[in-house]
Amino acid sequence: MTSHIAPLPSGACRMFHRHHGDLLDGVASVELATWMRAHAAECPACARFDVRLRRGLMVLRALPPLAPSPRLTHRLATIFPDYGLVGDARPQDGARTRRV
Ligand SMILES: [Zn+2]
Repeated sequence: MTSHIAPLPSGACRMFHRHHGDLLDGVASVELATWMRAHAAECPACARFDVRLRRGLMVLRALPPLAPSPRLTHRLATIFPDYGLVGDARPQDGARTRRV
């Protein structure tokens, strides 16, 4: 009987997946980023994972920004009068802090 279940990723692949967000956000240490690029160069599965996530992010970033309707904005301002948006309140790339 042939198994159609993908093999479990190696420890290196699990580490790559675990820290991939840090790499994309630019908060991975230089050593970690170097290791991750080297791993992706030699591991087809992680290279595909990296490409898929980067392409997905490109698609998401190309979408027009979302804005609440004027009615929802008014309702939110009524419910939360002390909280207002200042400037561009969307999360920014690299906004997370670097892990030590
Ligand atoms: Zn891998």
